[in-house]
Amino acid sequence: MSDCIFCKIVEGSIPSTKVFENDHVLAFRDIVPAAPVHILVIPKRHIPTMNDVAPEDAALLAEVLLTAQKIAKEEGIAESGYRLINNCNSDGGQTAYHLHFHLLGGRPLGALLEGHSS
Ligand code: 5GP
Ligand code: ZN
Repeated sequence: MSDCIFCKIVEGSIPSTKVFENDHVLAFRDIVPAAPVHILVIPKRHIPTMNDVAPEDAALLAEVLLTAQKIAKEEGIAESGYRLINNCNSDGGQTAYHLHFHLLGGRPLGALLEGHSS
């Protein structure tokens, strides 16, 4: 999609610090890291949100998640632990409308959901 920032990163017209790339998946460091390790893992194909993932995208989605798992090992955070987050639409806090998973680790991330009732 021509006005999508992550499609531009895939194309290379916006630079990024890539940590992994193959024909289907790209991973690059978040420009505003929220943790010592903060990497975005995306399908190269433009899928706007998690709501737009179709059953036929199952293999692609698995590849994205397994890429995150592999990078976690390479970044040395597999054993200490990490969080893999997808923000969907406005209440989810999504700002970039090209499907992506945040891989966050390298520090204790806190109990995001614990103790919340709403
Ligand atoms: P969202 O809020 O949509 O889940 O996450 C979007 C993420 O993309 C944010 O963490 C933001 O810092 C990151 N981001 C936005 N623009 C760029 C960019 O041009 N380059 C990189 N590397 N990350 C970006
Ligand atoms: Zn896109």
